[in-house]
Amino acid sequence: MADTTLLFLHAHPDDECILTGATMARAKSLGMRTIVAYATRGDAGETSNDLGGETLGEVREREARAACDALGVDRVLFLGFDDSGMEDTETTKNPTAFCNADLDEVTARLSLALVNETITAVIGYDRNGTYGHPDHIQIHHAAHAAAPALKADWVLDATYNREYLASLDGDNYDKAESNPEAFATSEAELTHFVDDEASFLAKMTAITHHQSQMPDEWKDSEAEPPVEEFAKRFGTEWFVTTAVGDTTDFGALEELLRPKAEWSSPQT
Ligand SMILES: [Zn+2]
Repeated sequence: MADTTLLFLHAHPDDECILTGATMARAKSLGMRTIVAYATRGDAGETSNDLGGETLGEVREREARAACDALGVDRVLFLGFDDSGMEDTETTKNPTAFCNADLDEVTARLSLALVNETITAVIGYDRNGTYGHPDHIQIHHAAHAAAPALKADWVLDATYNREYLASLDGDNYDKAESNPEAFATSEAELTHFVDDEASFLAKMTAITHHQSQMPDEWKDSEAEPPVEEFAKRFGTEWFVTTAVGDTTDFGALEELLRPKAEWSSPQT
């Protein structure tokens, strides 16, 4: 499958692990070429770490490159837009924030960087940007806008299973309950998933490179990493697949993704 190239379009460093880390690892194990393009360096994020003179963007770019290395990613690109920050904050008004980017400009930057690549599929996010972050919503639009220009056959919206997450106890998915239409994707709309143990373990290893984004309780060396908890929430990576143009052949993606019909909830 050396002739299959997947372009993962991500908003910020660490999104690649949380949303698609297992899929990236699985693609690599199948011999596919993987490219990650980050819209931003996550410079408007938060951290409780001492940055030691570096900016948060510099730290997060370094962490992202290390995580991608761990996942066997072949190429890492940074598209150079600014992090928009969370919805309803001042940073979303920044004219160079990704959420305000012209989609033609995003496509142009991707096309220039990828001029020598043959892209099979572009992986972005669902129309809610999974949980409503303005940069994540923009990734949805950017992936669908860029895919035809890149002559990709498929767009894969990475997402969560809304009803499944809402059913978990003690979670923070208030939005899944209070405003479900704005959170992730209804199970009925999901089409495919990735869920295998080796790929999940690769995702868990890669995510440890994002030290600036770790919750403080994970940084305690005495603490057991919450692998089981993480597996329950993020162990299955969900997608909604859309053909670009009139493609009907799923090709090598058949090996990568399983159809939703094969999924059974770990809650039941
Ligand atoms: Zn993000």
